[in-house]
Amino acid sequence: MILSGGRIIDPANNLDTVGDLRVEDGVVRTVAAGGTRLEGRPDERVINCAGKVVCPGLIDIHVHLREPGQEYKETIESGARAAAAGGFTAVACMPNTKPVIDNASIVRDLRAKSDAARAARVYVIAALSKGMVNQELAEMADLKDAGAVAVSDDAFQVQDAEFLRRAMEYAHMLRLPVLTHCENTSLTDSGAMNEGYTATVLGIKGLPREAYEMDVARNILLSLMTGAHLHVLHVSTAREVELIRWGKAQGANVTAETGPHYWCLTDEACRGYHANAKMNPPLRTETDLAAMVEGLKDGTLDCIATDHAPHAAYEKQVEFVSAPFGIVGLETSLALGITHLVQPGHLSLAALVKAMSTEPARVLRLPGGTLAEGSPADITVFDPEAQWVVEPEQFVSKGRNTPFAGQTLTGRATLTVVGGEVVYGD
Ligand SMILES: [Zn+2]
Repeated sequence: MILSGGRIIDPANNLDTVGDLRVEDGVVRTVAAGGTRLEGRPDERVINCAGKVVCPGLIDIHVHLREPGQEYKETIESGARAAAAGGFTAVACMPNTKPVIDNASIVRDLRAKSDAARAARVYVIAALSKGMVNQELAEMADLKDAGAVAVSDDAFQVQDAEFLRRAMEYAHMLRLPVLTHCENTSLTDSGAMNEGYTATVLGIKGLPREAYEMDVARNILLSLMTGAHLHVLHVSTAREVELIRWGKAQGANVTAETGPHYWCLTDEACRGYHANAKMNPPLRTETDLAAMVEGLKDGTLDCIATDHAPHAAYEKQVEFVSAPFGIVGLETSLALGITHLVQPGHLSLAALVKAMSTEPARVLRLPGGTLAEGSPADITVFDPEAQWVVEPEQFVSKGRNTPFAGQTLTGRATLTVVGGEVVYGD
C-alpha cells in the first residue's frame, strides 16, 4: 500500500514534509520525503492523501474499556473500534474493572481479545494492589510477564504513603511505570465538582484543588525517594503543572498527561447540572486551562490522554451529585486538540502529533510513535481542515456521555492503519 501525497509529520524523526509512504508486510518500508513520488506496483493499493496529514498512529494511554464485568458500558472490541475511529492505533486500558485486572490470566485474556478485535491495539495496565483495595501488592512480575505495560491505582488512589513507597520500589525493580490518580480523599469526600464560586452558586459540595496537588507533591517525592517512574494521570490544576515542572527540575523520573476537557472547559460547564460535565478530577477554571496549554507547550505535560470513561445513558441521567464521574473521549480528542490548541496557535500540528503519539509511546515504552523505516505500520491519516458536528449517537463507542455534543469541531481521522491493515476508514 502507498499513502500518496500527504503531509508526513513524524516528530520522532523531525520530519514534516509532503511525500509518499510505502507500507509492506506490516511495516513502514519507505518514506519518500520532499515531494518524491513512489511508483505503485500492480499489486499495490495507492491511497490519495493529498491535503491530509500522515503521522505515526495516535496512542491514548488512559482509557477505561470496562471489560471484564461492565460490558454494557464498553468492551475491548467496541473500545478498540472507537479508538480506531478516533485515529488511535493503540490504547492502554485501566484495571478498575469487575473483577479488577490484578492477575495474569485476565491480562492474557484481554490481550487475546485485543488481537481478535482487529482494530486499535489494546495494551493492559494492571492493578497496583490486589483487588485495588491497597492492602497487598499485586503480583507485578507475573502481570508483566503476561503483558501488562504499567501498574496503576486509577479510581482507587493509594492514601497510605508507605504502601505506595513499597509499590514503587517493587515496580521500579521490574521497570514498570506507576500511574497514579493523585487525590487525598480525606478532603474530597462526597464532593462532585471543582470547589469554588460556581459550586457555591449551584449548591454542590466541592472537590478542592489542594486535595489533588498535595498528592502530586507527595508522589513526586516518593518517586525521588525510590527512583520509580511516576506518571501523573489527568493533571487538572495550574499548581499541579508547577509541581511537575519542579519535580522534573529536581531530576525526578516523572511524566504527566492532561486530557482535552482540561484545556477546553471550565467548571462553568456544570451550570444546568449537566452530568456530562462531571468527572474526577473536576473541570477547573480559566487559569488552569491556560496552565494546561503552557504545560503542553513546554513539555512539562508530556502527553495527551483522554481518560475515556463510558457510562450507560441511564447512569448519567440522574441528579448531578449521584451521577458517576467520567466522559468518553476517544472520538473527539484529535479534533479538540486541533480546534483548541492548533487553530488558536498554541501548538503546531507536529507538536500535537508528538503529544498524541511519540510521547505516549515513550512514556509507556510501547512500540509505535514513529514512522521510521522498518517500524510497525501503525499510521493515522487525518484531515486537519474537516469540520464536523459532534453527534454522540454516531459514536462507535457504546458510551454517549460527552459534554461536546452539538459542537462544531475541526479535524478528523480519515484512515487508521494498524500493523499494515486498514482498521478504519477508506
Ligand atoms: Zn481514569
